Amino acid sequence: MQQHSYQSDRESIVQAIRELDSRGLVSGSSGNVSLRLPVEGGQDRYLITPAGVTYDRLDEDGLVVVDSELEPIGEELVPSTESLLHLGIYQSRPDINAVVHTHSLYASIAAVTSTHIPPIVDEMVVYIGGSIEVADYGFPGTSELAAAGVEALGDRRAVLLRNHGMCAAAPTLHEAMRIAVLVERIAQIYVQAEMMGGAVELPDYAAETERQVYLMRSGLAGSD
Ligand SMILES: [Zn+2]
Repeated sequence: MQQHSYQSDRESIVQAIRELDSRGLVSGSSGNVSLRLPVEGGQDRYLITPAGVTYDRLDEDGLVVVDSELEPIGEELVPSTESLLHLGIYQSRPDINAVVHTHSLYASIAAVTSTHIPPIVDEMVVYIGGSIEVADYGFPGTSELAAAGVEALGDRRAVLLRNHGMCAAAPTLHEAMRIAVLVERIAQIYVQAEMMGGAVELPDYAAETERQVYLMRSGLAGSD
């Protein structure tokens, strides 16, 4: 394997993909992971998984560095088909440095059946920022999907993509991975609770208090 720029970032993404794979959150070449690569005094770059490569074959060499126009830098590789969604999130959310997109099962069920997952467990408000909204449908890979995803994400850290899957966004890849796992757990709770007569939402005072904790921890306090 040759040495590339951003080697440790490349290793982090490959490790993240392997973890998503081992947890059953991605399969084949579905889902994708990216990182913001800040450029001092210039336009940020982004490191992203490639289009159409199955995860058992993905290594550090296969990741793509793109500029803010999604033009690959250095490598003759095609970035993920959902790159516009990743880029849209980075450009609208300066606090976000890592994005994880999966087609995980329960998140996808909720994205097919629901308009949103309301606040039903405490940690979803503390770590995600509140409800998990379902973005309007957008055809995969399009700017419409990206715009709908960004809008439904708002100032939170996870969004469901109508008839498609989910997207987690966080200041670090470690946190984005944690959120990807948490979203799947919450979606499973929600889907099964709905089958058992309906999920009971958190009391308003709890959701509001936890949302303030989220905003403070995220450095977003004052934006509410
Ligand atoms: Zn997808």
